[in-house]
Amino acid sequence: MINEHQAHALALIINSFRPNDWGTHQILAVLSEHQNTPTPFPRIVEAAIRAARNPAIKSPTAIFLPGKHWDTDTDTVADDQPAPTPNTPCEDHPHEPAHTCRCCWADVRAGDRSPDHIGKTTTPTRRTPPPTNFRELYENALPPTPHTPSGVTQHPEPTKTPQHQEPAT
Ligand SMILES: [Zn+2]
Repeated sequence: MINEHQAHALALIINSFRPNDWGTHQILAVLSEHQNTPTPFPRIVEAAIRAARNPAIKSPTAIFLPGKHWDTDTDTVADDQPAPTPNTPCEDHPHEPAHTCRCCWADVRAGDRSPDHIGKTTTPTRRTPPPTNFRELYENALPPTPHTPSGVTQHPEPTKTPQHQEPAT
């Protein structure tokens, strides 16, 4: 779809690429002829600019013909790349990111939330008791921590303390 404003804007842009042979009115006529095209306008803009930059394309009518100007394979930004995961807030604690919500983890620890509801809102009316293997589920659901497990604090071996002090200089 191309509306009137888009057609005028695009005609001016395309005309700036071909000021000598592609007149604005000529481009507008082509765009209005294809105003009901199912192609999204951004795609038309891309293809039209590519067509205008190709000196082998002699007329703006070729914009809507199949051709290399519709080929987006050469784009540096690939269309099939996954979008970066948005940092969605927790449904229950919007100040925390959903997947690492500390409040949810605290709920899990207290038995008020199942580990698969991290970042998701829970129904407070149905407070189900934790399953019997809750501890195991909880341990498995914990994100890996780079530190030593809690309770295993590493103290220096008393026998390895230096036997003598370095003389102060
Ligand atoms: Zn939360």
